[in-house]
Amino acid sequence: MVKEQEERKLSRYTGLALALIIAMIGISGYSIYRIVRVIRQAPKFADIVICDDCEHMFEKEHTADEKSPYECEKCGRRKAYKAFYCVTCGRHFPNLDPHSKEKIECPYCWSTNVEEQLYLPPKKPETETDE
Ligand SMILES: [Zn+2]
Ligand SMILES: [Zn+2]
Repeated sequence: MVKEQEERKLSRYTGLALALIIAMIGISGYSIYRIVRVIRQAPKFADIVICDDCEHMFEKEHTADEKSPYECEKCGRRKAYKAFYCVTCGRHFPNLDPHSKEKIECPYCWSTNVEEQLYLPPKKPETETDE
């Protein structure tokens, strides 16, 4: 009777240990999978860029190695730079010199009250909608 209980206890521990080992293999396997994925896929960044030529603004996905100017998706020229927004005059403009230490100025009104454009502004509706 006592021996049987002992055996049952033992098998319960073995089962627990086995479950633990399986869980650990699963966790380490998952982290290896994640590391491999990170190595294989270079991290992507998304910037809102604007074309210096045709003023087309769009979201550009790029890796850390790809630097501006990017190819414009509308006119195809390599003239798309990070987009900035002028709070003073409300216009968007490209930041042609991202490494400049000087304050970024709006090329239209020379205001320095500018912000980096972080989101693609909603497309203007073609027709007026009732709201
Ligand atoms: Zn363009
Ligand atoms: Zn301005």
